[in-house]
This record gives sequence, structure tokens and C-alpha cells, in this order.
Amino acid sequence: ERIVAAGADDLERAAEAALRPRRLEEFVGQAVVRDQLSLVLQAALARGSSPDHVLLSGPPGLGKTTLAMIIAAELGTSLRVTSGPAIQHAGDLAAVLSSLEEGEVLFIDEIHRLARPAEELLYMAMEDFRVDVVVGKGAGASAIPLSLPPFTAVGATTRAGLLPAPLRDRFGFTGHLDFYSSDELERVLARSAGLLGVSLDADAAREIAGRSRGTPRIANRLLRRVRDWAQVRGDGSMDLAAARAALEVYEVDPIGLDRLDRAVLTALCTRFNGGPVGLTTLAVTVGEEAETVETVAEPYLVREGLIGRTPRGRVATPAAWAHLGLTPPREGGT
Ligand code: ADP
Repeated sequence: ERIVAAGADDLERAAEAALRPRRLEEFVGQAVVRDQLSLVLQAALARGSSPDHVLLSGPPGLGKTTLAMIIAAELGTSLRVTSGPAIQHAGDLAAVLSSLEEGEVLFIDEIHRLARPAEELLYMAMEDFRVDVVVGKGAGASAIPLSLPPFTAVGATTRAGLLPAPLRDRFGFTGHLDFYSSDELERVLARSAGLLGVSLDADAAREIAGRSRGTPRIANRLLRRVRDWAQVRGDGSMDLAAARAALEVYEVDPIGLDRLDRAVLTALCTRFNGGPVGLTTLAVTVGEEAETVETVAEPYLVREGLIGRTPRGRVATPAAWAHLGLTPPREGGT
């Protein structure tokens, strides 16, 4: 796994659990979504009813799961967790839905990956608080309607546009999470350091934030690695020198690029003179699958304005040459 990957595995989820904000007021940044959500929740609490269903969209690691947990905590209810890929059949979802208790929050991660029949069952459950449980098979099958207690569905998706419109329309509130500013990440890091019981210098926090790709999950992960370095090779203090030394060990550069990102950029500039070059050729040159380059390295390089996509292939921008400390070839040159 790459240290700058935005996703998390189960082991990391355990380390993350300790750092999760529990209440809305602890949730750093995302001021707009936080404010809107706070209104939705307070209104529901005042009415004594379940709030509208909530859809959270945005890239991995920005706090969708955390917000789902916060929603349940703020409502004083419990959270049930499932995900699109975990639901193989509509019956699996019917089982989860029919076991919900009144007012509970059902979190469906990666909701855009639900299979069609499950999706249709979910529309009905969200709209009418009802599911049809199918008993029997083939011609003898019949649907028994089952009414559900009111609940709140919280869906998370990396792109709201991936959801079919009928499902999207069932959510009364959609919050879009954006990448965090360096300032916000510094606040996330300061909070996390406090929870870990370690002291983190402000300039070390700024250094880590700058390498975290706008993503709290990555910031917290880098913080744990800096803590390791400070304990094992340093004197325990998390200062700027420790942060730089640790992140050098993990090959995370000052703007958060890792070895693969830099290999792609370097190949593009030095082997292909800045492009344009096709994705497949570029991938072969760095010894990776085209899909890996496209999904793992490219999005961040494009977002940072280091790579451009053109109809004739990928091109290095002036910022890419500058970042590598190279001089771009002159216009009309070789
Ligand atoms: P997602 O579900 O969007 O992939 P998570 O909610 O699992 O992201 O967040 C990943 C990690 O980042 C969690 O450990 C959480 O503690 C931290 N995190 C995310 N957003 C924030 C935030 N706004 N403030 C503090 N920590 C955050």
C-alpha cells in the first residue's frame, strides 16, 4: 500500500478509530457542510423525528464515515454500517432494513456500487419505509410487504454523479466534501497529536499538512510515521527536522508526491520531452499497468496542475518541470 493512498484497510481503520471526531463541533473544516448538517440535525431533534436521508459525496479519506458516525451521535441513536459491495442480493439489504430500530441511522458506504435490485428495494424503503420481502421462488414466489420504522439513511459515494437520479432524489440533503486546506489539515494534526499524547511543533504540522494531499486520512497516517521516527531515530520530539527526515524515509516529497508519482513525471519530462505521450506508453516506461497510472498517480498530478490531459496524450506542465528542478525544452525545440 502507498503511504499517500487515500483509502484505508481494516488495520488502519482500527488506528483511525482513536482519532475520529465524535461530535460535529470537533469536526475540522468543511464549514459549509457542517453548518448545513447542523441545521438538518437540530431541526429534526426539535421536531422529535428522524431527519431527511443524507448523501455525502467526495473523495476517500475526507470524513464521510466520520460524519455518518457523528450524525448518529448527535441524534443520540445508534449507527448501522453496510456498504454497496457488501450487499450481494436485495435479500441482504432487506434483512438489514428489517432489523433496524426506530430512529436508527443506516450508513451505506460506496452506495454507488449497490446492485440494481438492492437499489430499487432501497428507494422504496427510503420513501415509504416499507420493503417487499419475497418468499418462495419462480412462479410461486410472492411479495410480502413489511413496514419499517422510520430511520435515516446516510449514503457515501466518491462521486454523486455515479448515482442513478431516482436514488439521488431520495436524499433530502446532499453534502459535498472538498479537499482540505493546509490550514485545516494543520488543525486536524494538532488535534490528533493531542489525542496521541505527543507534542507536535507548529512548523512540523505545516510540513506534514503540505504533504498530505488535502486529505485528513493521509495527514494522520503521516503523523503516525513521524511519531515513529521521532521515537526511534530522534529524541522523541516532533519538530520540523523530524518531520522532514521521517517523510524522506517514506519517500513522500514536499508536495506529497510518492515514488510512483515522481517516476511518472520524470519519465514524461526526461524520456518524452514533456509529451504528449499516450498513457500506455507512459505506463510501460515506469513499469506499471496503465490502469494503475491512470487511477493511482494521475488524478493527483492533474489536480496539482503537474500533468495535462490532451487528445494526443499526457503533457507535463511548466509546474512539473519546475518541481523536478528541470528546464523545459524551448518551444519549437527538439
Ligand atoms: P471517508 O469515509 O471519507 O473515506 P473517514 O471518515 O474514514 O473518511 O476519515 C478518515 C480519517 O480522517 C478518520 O480517521 C478521521 O479521524 C479523519 N478525519 C476525516 N475528516 C476529519 C475532520 N474533518 N476532522 C478531523 N479528522 C478527520
